[in-house]
Amino acid sequence: MARGKSSLWLIVLVLILVLIGAGAFYVWPHLEGEPPQIALATPLKHLGKSSSLTLKVSDQGRGLSWVRVTLVQEQRKSVLLNQTSEVLGAPLATLKLDIKPLEMGMRQGQATLVVEAGDRSWRSWMKGNMTVKEFQVMVDTTPPRLASLSQIIHINRGGAGLAVYTVNEADSQHGVRVGDLVFTGWSPWPQQPGTKLCYFAYPEDAPKDQAIELWAQDPAGNQAKLPLNVKVHWKNFRTDVINLNDAFMNKVAARFADQIPADRQTPLAKFLWINQDLRQKNNAKIHEASKPSQAYQLWQNTLERPLGARKAAFGDRREYVLDKKVVSRSVHLGQDLAHTERSPVKATASGMVRYAADMGIYGNCVILSHGQGVATLYGHLSELKVKAGDKVARGQVIGLSGMTGLALGDHLHFSVLVDGVFVQPTEWWDPHWVQDNVLLRFKEAGLPQPLPPAGK
Ligand SMILES: [Zn+2]
Repeated sequence: MARGKSSLWLIVLVLILVLIGAGAFYVWPHLEGEPPQIALATPLKHLGKSSSLTLKVSDQGRGLSWVRVTLVQEQRKSVLLNQTSEVLGAPLATLKLDIKPLEMGMRQGQATLVVEAGDRSWRSWMKGNMTVKEFQVMVDTTPPRLASLSQIIHINRGGAGLAVYTVNEADSQHGVRVGDLVFTGWSPWPQQPGTKLCYFAYPEDAPKDQAIELWAQDPAGNQAKLPLNVKVHWKNFRTDVINLNDAFMNKVAARFADQIPADRQTPLAKFLWINQDLRQKNNAKIHEASKPSQAYQLWQNTLERPLGARKAAFGDRREYVLDKKVVSRSVHLGQDLAHTERSPVKATASGMVRYAADMGIYGNCVILSHGQGVATLYGHLSELKVKAGDKVARGQVIGLSGMTGLALGDHLHFSVLVDGVFVQPTEWWDPHWVQDNVLLRFKEAGLPQPLPPAGK
């Protein structure tokens, strides 16, 4: 009997141990000690009138339980977000919130954004693990102040202009807006960091009466604008008619045979792909390649006019006619200059090589940046003498003229761009234009020419 009793005890003991084990097995993960993680999707340093914030809150263990976001400034405290049910159990929550500090009674100046999160762990008597993170932010709801230092600015349709102005908040982005086009400004006077300049264009394809204004945006996202006193001189561009035939179109297509999509079968379809699709793709790439720049003016006096007789001009409208119908149109965005075959092509001013490679219809092509968004382009070259990243001096040979790309005879295609927008090249090699539209802007603002500081 004694034996039977003791074995019963043993069974009970084993059962208790199994229960404790199973309990521990079940409870143990609930006691995890991994606290939630809190991060801002993008850094937030400033709060403007309305700033959006994206929070990423995660928990590796039993998942989130709650998240609370509070904005604190001196005695003021405002709860921006208090979420329990929405995040309950989630391993990761992406929380978006709009902060309007003025509506919350906050003042200009320093404030603290407090983000707290708890998880579903049973630690700390079921309270769970908790993380608190604080972010220092600056409440700034005042837009930057703009002032123009330029008198009346004259600009030609398709031409360029220069504005000189001040922005009172140092870290603002700024420039000139022409219609929807945004041009970036620069700060080239280290002694006067609030004084800025911006080259801008009245694009050859823009409609009449575009609004032209200065713009600025501070780090808190507050925006300011100020109309510029600009007089636009409208002019009409020439129209050339180009008669197409199969022989011509086949000749052109042969040059791009390896690039034309297979579904373009007829000579016309192939020609249209080159003249429209490829042209558009090339111009977009030129826009991107010519935009990167720096604050100082690397050119002086004028841009040097390349050698050669003018063949086609900037802004020429071209109509391509087949069987008495206009089948395609294009605009010529530079100056064609023909000199002797394979004649040396020189840098029009000092600069940095941004691009030196094939560029579709422009053939072998060099793009130079001369600072402050001003760039020049040299197309149809038979040979390249520089590579991207090189520094070049005015007059340095950068290539030899040729007929690569969409060119039927040896010539140089020369373009000038302002912040990625093609402009009239002839303005830049005319000393009178430079005097009236560039040097006068510095003179009337009482500023020196924004050349690179010595040693730069
Ligand atoms: Zn051309």
